Amino acid sequence: MTQPAPGIVCDSFRLGPDGIYRCDAFQEFFWQKHGFGTRSASPEAQITLRQIHSDQVVNANSLRDRDREGDALITGCVGISIGVRTADCVPILLLDCRTRTIAAVHAGWRGTLSGISRSTIQKMREDFGTDPADVYVALGPCVRACCYVVDLDVANQFAPQFPEWEPVAGNKRALDLPEANRRQMQNAGVNPQRIFDCGLCTTCQTASFYSYRREPENPGRMVSAIERLA
Ligand SMILES: [Zn+2]
Repeated sequence: MTQPAPGIVCDSFRLGPDGIYRCDAFQEFFWQKHGFGTRSASPEAQITLRQIHSDQVVNANSLRDRDREGDALITGCVGISIGVRTADCVPILLLDCRTRTIAAVHAGWRGTLSGISRSTIQKMREDFGTDPADVYVALGPCVRACCYVVDLDVANQFAPQFPEWEPVAGNKRALDLPEANRRQMQNAGVNPQRIFDCGLCTTCQTASFYSYRREPENPGRMVSAIERLA
């Protein structure tokens, strides 16, 4: 297992010499820093949540101890990094280029099904006046359809999100979680050209990422985080 060399991956993500992936489109905004962790390094996150596979979005501006449960953080504060921990679930970072609101989302299948990405856009709008047209989205390394085959009772709950699905033989179906989240944000008004996906699979790319499905006994997680600097 060799580590990939630093450089560009698809959809304009690149691996830095520090072992952290970043989205080129986000780098246009000098007022933020962000990163998606790997096995070798993770960015710092000062605020994270007890993740419960929900659609609960927490505003870190007014964080109280009893609020520290949920699957997405949003903030408009300068100097506080917010993050999520994943090992197969989809880490998603967002920024609003007008209000400088930022968000970090943890989307497993339950959170995706309950609409965590849609809820995040909605709460950015409610709390910070975000117009979805101003939002940039980066989808990080996660388990992809190549490696994510689920039972039909799970898959069928996603059928409304994938109207193009043909019937399958057998009782399993491949599920594309990043695509489901992309569609939620697009339907919430995000410009599809501002949604960037690194295309990396945590389960196939064993050298780079922790994977809960591949190694359920390994407690390792990657952190993905974003911070507003100004
Ligand atoms: Zn894969």
